[in-house]
Amino acid sequence: MDRYCVFGNPIAHSKSPDIHAAFAAQTGQQLVYDKRLAPVDGFADAVRAFIAEGGKGANVTVPFKLEAHKLAGALTIRAQAAGAVNTLLFDEHGITGDNTDGAGLVADITHNAGVAITGKRVLLLGAGGAARGAVLPLLEHRPQALHIANRTVATAEALVQQFAALGGADVLSAGGFADIAGDFDIVINATSASLQAALPPFPPSVFHPGTLALDMMYGKEPTVFLRFAEAEGAVPRDGLGMLVEQAAEAFLGWRGVRPDTAAVLQSMRQKL
Ligand code: NDP
Repeated sequence: MDRYCVFGNPIAHSKSPDIHAAFAAQTGQQLVYDKRLAPVDGFADAVRAFIAEGGKGANVTVPFKLEAHKLAGALTIRAQAAGAVNTLLFDEHGITGDNTDGAGLVADITHNAGVAITGKRVLLLGAGGAARGAVLPLLEHRPQALHIANRTVATAEALVQQFAALGGADVLSAGGFADIAGDFDIVINATSASLQAALPPFPPSVFHPGTLALDMMYGKEPTVFLRFAEAEGAVPRDGLGMLVEQAAEAFLGWRGVRPDTAAVLQSMRQKL
């Protein structure tokens, strides 16, 4: 059987084996997918050992996404743009790195939430790895505006400079949290503030009734960001759909077949 895994440290919490097992059962693909704890200083060796055992591909999570980007001999355009890799493919050409996080986010917004991005005003909070991966897939849907706000303003400004050259010049802007102007149709929290139960200090006026407020984090209970957004009239959505969709995109790259995510998302939600 073809073998896949997810590398991380820690990794015990990972839901990826459950998601890929469900995709494999649904599509009739013969594969095994497990989780591997790689030593913090031993990611590349762990990947090489897995390839030697016959591994066909892997997902990569915290803290190895930048190292995976360095390790890959070839990169997809979206992995180059993101500067990080969450999906590896091993074949006769060597190691190819991809980034499916942004595509997963966009698929969740457009397919699962049913919200078009085209022509909309979008606010991206955060400028770390997850935000960087989201910019190109968001731009591909031609929003009217994409404003990136970050605690460290220079990081958001660097992102705008990078993506201006990739078709975002008329659409992109950047700044700090306090000086965000106007309201938005879609607000995405790509900061890790929710992990510390903190709320980035942005003005509540970013929301209007019906704004889609998406937190990339997910859990049994809504995050502080989602509770705040809902109280301001926004429609809350957590990052579980993004997680399932980024996995579906990786599965498509490995197996050439796109799984139906709706049932898998529903069952993952029940298991939270
Ligand atoms: P990074 O560490 O790369 O980036 C963290 C970002 O959050 C930076 O922009 C940082 O700002 C900002 N930040 C951190 N703490 C605070 C705070 N207290 N207030 C305001 N801003 C803060 O993390 P990632 O980009 O990898 O992950 C971000 C989030 O996305 C995490 O919650 C992660 O779990 C989630 N995620 C979800 C996925 C999914 O499939 N659902 C996939 C990938 C990520 P600064 O630049 O100033 O340090």
